[in-house]
Amino acid sequence: MSTNTMKAVVCHGPGDYRLEQAAAKPKAGPGEVVIKVASCGICAGDVKAHHGADMFWGGESPWVKVPVVPGHEFFGDVVELGEGAAELHGIKMGDRVLAEQIVPCGRCKFCRSGKYWMCEVHNIFGFQTQVAEGGMAEYMKFASTCIVHKIPAGLSHEEAAIIEPMACAAHTVRRGEIEFDDVVVLAGAGPLGLCMAQIIPLKTPRKFIVIDMDDERLATAREYGADLTLNPKRDDTIRIVKELTGGYGCDVYIEATGHPSGVTQGLEMIRKLGRFVEFSVFGSPTTVDWSVIGDRKELDIRGSHLGPYAYEIVIDLFERKKLTAKGIVTHQYKLDEFDAAMEMAGKLESVKVLLNP
Ligand SMILES: [Zn+2]
Ligand SMILES: [Zn+2]
Repeated sequence: MSTNTMKAVVCHGPGDYRLEQAAAKPKAGPGEVVIKVASCGICAGDVKAHHGADMFWGGESPWVKVPVVPGHEFFGDVVELGEGAAELHGIKMGDRVLAEQIVPCGRCKFCRSGKYWMCEVHNIFGFQTQVAEGGMAEYMKFASTCIVHKIPAGLSHEEAAIIEPMACAAHTVRRGEIEFDDVVVLAGAGPLGLCMAQIIPLKTPRKFIVIDMDDERLATAREYGADLTLNPKRDDTIRIVKELTGGYGCDVYIEATGHPSGVTQGLEMIRKLGRFVEFSVFGSPTTVDWSVIGDRKELDIRGSHLGPYAYEIVIDLFERKKLTAKGIVTHQYKLDEFDAAMEMAGKLESVKVLLNP
């Protein structure tokens, strides 16, 4: 293999992902960084894009721009620094690093006011050809506007690989502004929900309840510190949460199911003036009576997207052994086994699947 090529997974369209042996190896221009990828996790979003979900491929001008290397949950070692990149990002050759999943344009009003995660252009690694090629490859490039973080030696391979989802989870939990005397309900114990299930107890709420349809994931949530877990298959979740709170309802409700019933359940079990945090991406629209939000409960509805200003927090929590990859990273594959890895990532028996080049 020539030194100008590399092995990479390349997405050419929905369901059309090819393992290519001689993809173009990136080169670092001014301010840019090339890393040798150590690992790249498969996100639920990657699985949905692979399956051809409308949010990725719908409309005249689909959000995904192909051909593109997928993957935004990566880390690796710095192997090339473009002119000025070392000073710009505060890194040197050989450092173990990652970049935040968004490639900020650096020019829109959000980028210019520090709200870079809401960048109007919104290029996310792994979804836009040329400008945001992802991590399912031997090498990848960070643009000069990327937000790069150093990963300390104390973090394991598995921990480093889940900094990105943990940062999303930390931002979501932070949006809930949990207080000591709050009863917090987390709906959804998928990969991101289980990350949140580790972070919520660090806020020491009075009671922390997790709701999911899968008993194994609920058991993991209890290991992480959930006081109570409920399975809607057998538990009357709304009645139980109301009973536990003197009929008022929970103070904070974090929605991470991706299913419309996760929203309607939350609007019913949350107390008046409660804080409802929405994290999910939905496959279909949710219909609710909006008078619950205003007239009946005066709710505080808060969205959550990406993990802004949360990466350093998560890295520190890992260093202090307050977070773990145990129970999150369940499977690891070689890049060559992409098809098997993608199939496993779509199964309930896996939580987080990693691809290691
Ligand atoms: Zn993701
Ligand atoms: Zn921008």
